[in-house]
Order: sequence, then structure tokens, then C-alpha cells
Amino acid sequence: MSLLKTTLDANAFACILEFVPKPCAERLATLEALMARTRLCGWPLTVAIGDRVGSALDLSPLDAFTSLKQPVPVLLHFSGKDRERRDLLAQLQRMDAAGLDQLLLLTGDRLPGHTPGERPVRYLESVAALQLVRQARPHWLLAAALNPFKYREAEGGAQYSKAQKKLTAGADLFILQLGFDIEKHQEAYDWMQRQPRPKPLMACIMALTAGRAAMLDHVAGVTVTPSMRALLAAEAAVSKQYAQARATRRLALQVIGLKLMGYAGVHLSGIHDVAQFEALEQAIDDLQGQFTSLADWTPAWQAAWQQPDLAPVTFHPPGHAWRLGQRHIEASTKEKARYHLLSAMHHQLFSRTTTLSKAFGWAVTRPLWANPTGARWLHQLERRIKRPLVGCDTCGSCRLQDTLYTCPETCPKGLANGPCGGTNLDRCEFGDRECVHSAKYRLAVSVGRTEVLTDRLIPCVQVENRQRSSWPVWFEVTATGPLPSHTAATPELND
Ligand code: SF4
Repeated sequence: MSLLKTTLDANAFACILEFVPKPCAERLATLEALMARTRLCGWPLTVAIGDRVGSALDLSPLDAFTSLKQPVPVLLHFSGKDRERRDLLAQLQRMDAAGLDQLLLLTGDRLPGHTPGERPVRYLESVAALQLVRQARPHWLLAAALNPFKYREAEGGAQYSKAQKKLTAGADLFILQLGFDIEKHQEAYDWMQRQPRPKPLMACIMALTAGRAAMLDHVAGVTVTPSMRALLAAEAAVSKQYAQARATRRLALQVIGLKLMGYAGVHLSGIHDVAQFEALEQAIDDLQGQFTSLADWTPAWQAAWQQPDLAPVTFHPPGHAWRLGQRHIEASTKEKARYHLLSAMHHQLFSRTTTLSKAFGWAVTRPLWANPTGARWLHQLERRIKRPLVGCDTCGSCRLQDTLYTCPETCPKGLANGPCGGTNLDRCEFGDRECVHSAKYRLAVSVGRTEVLTDRLIPCVQVENRQRSSWPVWFEVTATGPLPSHTAATPELND
């Protein structure tokens, strides 16, 4: 059993060191030196290897792993960006061969160069990926991500709804997105404890300096507020050493605070050399004995974010401070009317219970539509009707019933189960639109259908079915009775 599994099973505190693979001998040597430590302040230390953090051409986590002179079990990341189901299944086989059995499944951030409307880029969604791997490898340790650092109701609510799906899909462990807002860490922890079967939570953290904050401008979904930046800049103005020492002290405090809060461990990002590691270890050793509870710890954390002559630091963006449980949003009359209209149309045409639906089902399942010309005609017909109505891209397996009539293909990543972690105040990571999942969440709350966002696990689209009509499939698949979405998933796992 891997060190991470053993540690989690024992309810002990675990440290994961994140390694971003680069084809660089020096980096690998540093990683090996750090892996040889095996512990941070006595806590078991293991390694996670990032996937496609920079670009799709990065060294793959498996290649990085096999480059190690003394490989030990690591947590591989799998990013769904520009990938399909077959890529994931192929990775599982390669992991079997390498003796690895733990995986963090991520949708992934925007692929560099992906511009909506140009070459379609597909993202294998984390919920569907979790379902696939859980079915194919029932005993593996599967981790999922959650980004609780959201400050508007719709984007925050949608994050937690999707996390519930990840629990259902088989996640054993959740690792939070990089964040510094300890109240949001507490919020995520409390949410997990309210779940019927809570899973361990780990938090991704790093030593934050002004330089790192500037770098994080390009990382979707990470919140560094203006007041945080002002403090970091003031520290940098004193000296680089001073700023680094303050950042290390805050990181040490964050590790201690998260442990006191009940977190199962930390996922340490941005530690690239042994000196940084040792400085962190020393800082934790120096501080740890001072705190026995969060009440002791909180004033020290607050003081670590203060500088004389500077305004107090806030961790939420100016003007936006939503907390889980606060409910104010309401869909517009137009949004609700559209939903009710589409719902009524769907019932009439696709329920298989009305006369119209039975007639429509009979018509689109005639053998005529199975020949290439007929199939092309039917595809064009569906596309011409549904594209103006819902933005349909004729994916071949319509999911509108499970998405409150918001077509998943109108999300630039094609996500059906909920948002990625990259939204910013309800805006899509791509910056050009409101996140469709925020709009869907607002609608779900307003029409009393929030269960759709948590209960309906939507499988990924089969690539070979794209650009076909979904209508014959809809009536053929359901002719023997409707299949709930979560059981209709992943029909073939014969890898
Ligand atoms: S889910 Fe697929 S078939 Fe349904 S509207 Fe969207 S692209 Fe079209």
C-alpha cells in the first residue's frame, strides 16, 4: 500500500510535494533529494506529479516518474485538457505497468492557444473521468479537486454541487485549489463534514511573495486580492530575504492552522529546492509548539498578514464576500420562462409518453435514418433546429434534460457536470462570457431543481458519436425504459 493511502487510512497528517515535470536533470535531482527525506516535521511526505501545467507538450507525469532513479509510489495528476476517454484508459494501462495506483483527476485549465470558435478542444471532464477510473480500477486511490475560493453565490454553489457529484463518482480524497483564505478553508471543511460519507480534505498551499502573486495572475481560479498584493509589495520593498522569510512563516502557519482545523494534509506547491524545504521545516518546528487550537493560532495568522501603515488585508475580492449558505440570487423572468418553455417542449417530444413523442420516436428510428445520407439529413435537421435554440453542437447524445436545457457545448470546455475551478466572480475562465454553470445554478435555485446539479452524473460524450443526430439514440436507448444518468455511464471498460 502506498504511503499516502497508509497515512490517510491511519488518519495521520500527510504532506504531498507537488512536482511540475520539466525535462531538466537538475529539477529531477532536486525532486529525488526531497523524496529521500520521506518526512516533513515527522509527517509522511509523498510526491504528486503535475500534468500539462504549462502546455500539452510538458513531460508527462508517467515519463517523469520513470525518469526517477529510485521511483516510489507517487500521486499522478491527470488533466483532461485536449484528451478523450481513450487517453485516460491508455494511461491506466501504463500506470498498471509502472505499479502506480493513485490518481488526481482534473478537468484542467484552459489549454494554451485554445480560442473558442476556432479548433474545437475537448476536455475530459473530471466527474466522468472519476466514474471511468472508479469502474475500471475499483481499489485505486482517486483524488478530486475542489475550489472553494469563490465569492459569488452562483459560482460557489455550483462548485459544491459538482463536488457532490465527485463524491458520488467515487473520489476518495479531495484536494483544494491553491488558496489563502482560511475562512474558505473552514467553509470547505465544514461542508465535507456534513456529507453522508465525508472524505479527507487536503489543501494546496504555497509560500506567497509578490513575484509569485504576479505569476498567479495567469493561473485561473486563484484569488490574490489587491490588499494582499499591497502587503506583498511592501515586504518585497524591504528586501528579498525579508519577503521570503515572511512568506515562509505564513506557509508554516498555514500548515499548522490547516492541521488544527482537521485537514488530512497539505499539497505543497512551489518548493523547488532543498533550502526552501528546510526553511519551511524549520519554521514549522519553531511555531508548532505555540498553538494548541485554532483560537490560539488565528491571531498569529492575522498578524502574519499585517504591515504597519497598510490597510488590513482581506482575502475576498472587493465587494464580493459570499459565504456558503447565503442565498440571494434569482434567475430573471426571461431565464425562467425559457426553462419552462423548453421543459414543456421536451416533455411533448421526448418523454415517450405523449402521442407526439411516440410518433416522433417512431419517425426518427426508421431504418431510413441509418444509411449515410439519411443520417446526414437528420443531423442537419437537428442542428438547424437546436443550434439557434440552445447552441447545440450535435454531440450525438443529448444531455439537455440533465442540464436544465443549458447545452454543455456552450461551455468552452464542453463541461456538463458543473464548472471547472477557473471562474472569477461568475465569469468564465475564457473571460468572454458569464459561466454557463453559474447561470444554470441560478436557474436551478429559482425553479427548485438543485437536485439536478448534484445527483445527475453525466457521462462524457463518445467522440465517435459527435456530429450525429442524438434523436435515434435517445429513443433507442430508452426504448427498454429510461436509464438514470449515473448508471448509463461508461458502457465499455474492457481495457
Ligand atoms: S447536449 Fe449535445 S445534442 Fe444536446 S443540445 Fe447540447 S450539443 Fe446538442
